[in-house]
Amino acid sequence: DKPNIAFIGLGNMGAPMAENLLKAGYMLSVYDLSESATQRLQQAGASVASSPKDAVSNAQVVISMLPAGKHVHSVYLGKNGSDSLLAALPKGTLVIDSSTIAAADAMKVADAAIKLGIDFLDAPVSGGTGGAIAGSLTFIVGGSDDVFAKAKPILAVMGKNIFHAGDHGAGQVAKICNNMLLGILMAGTAEAINLGVKNGLDPKVLSDIMLQSSGRNWTLEVYNPYPQVMENVPSSNGYQGGFMSKLMQKDLNLAMQTAQDTHVETPMGAKATELYEAHSVENGDKDFSSIMGRHDSSVLS
Ligand code: NAD
Repeated sequence: DKPNIAFIGLGNMGAPMAENLLKAGYMLSVYDLSESATQRLQQAGASVASSPKDAVSNAQVVISMLPAGKHVHSVYLGKNGSDSLLAALPKGTLVIDSSTIAAADAMKVADAAIKLGIDFLDAPVSGGTGGAIAGSLTFIVGGSDDVFAKAKPILAVMGKNIFHAGDHGAGQVAKICNNMLLGILMAGTAEAINLGVKNGLDPKVLSDIMLQSSGRNWTLEVYNPYPQVMENVPSSNGYQGGFMSKLMQKDLNLAMQTAQDTHVETPMGAKATELYEAHSVENGDKDFSSIMGRHDSSVLS
């Protein structure tokens, strides 16, 4: 028997993830602050709730896909503890937060959940909006073995690779290590393409060459930052949708904070953070591949 699922946060990632659960036959109750976001899911067959508490009222599983730690805390812990969503859940409810947030923030929610007899996992994802639509995300999970086993069949509907990174918070640590590297790779790839273009190369020819050479990486494989080199990527669509620069900046800041707290040197990560901070001032809502525009502003117009 499939559990009823409450899904909170239906943005670029949450909406296609929720749609895949509906397609697999799960009953979904959804909530988002944005009406256009909930409308899309209503059309796909979900029932739309008027508040997070309304969404979870008949759910055995709760999944959230929110921007940042403050949103996750306000939804689950409430503003002053009295309006905590966790306290409204029956014991044994499974709560999966797939947002990318600080490990310390995830552990705070985990602690509050455990005290109430609720099963919690941090389960951030990798794979972009393409992976969310295709149901081929990588889930990077922190939590106990038995709760991980309980969640796995549901995560497998939305993802292909499901990793158990360790205890609470471990999923978030692994995720920010990955995204620090992604920020470095995207900034570096944009820089390399720009160097070639400014020296007379066609961006597509150069990308094809690097893709078959030692500079090969995920951005060249599926997320080229230069417009019209690839179809169906944000760079060929005015840098709309995808993964917003301000969210990449958030993840780089999480990595930098963790590095500082644990006295680990991350000079390349620091440089990428600096680039995304400056870029996000004016382009925070554009996809993170728009960092290309720092070198070649013509791509942004
Ligand atoms: P998004 O901004 O597109 O979506 C977030 C959604 O949450 C929005 O629809 C917003 O209205 C909703 N929301 C905000 N506060 C809310 C609240 N209190 N209650 C209910 N809904 C609320 O962001 P996204 O790209 O979907 O990313 C979500 C998370 O996933 C982020 O932590 C991001 O870092 C991470 N992530 C994104 C990608 C990507 O490629 N976009 C990939 C991996 C991980």
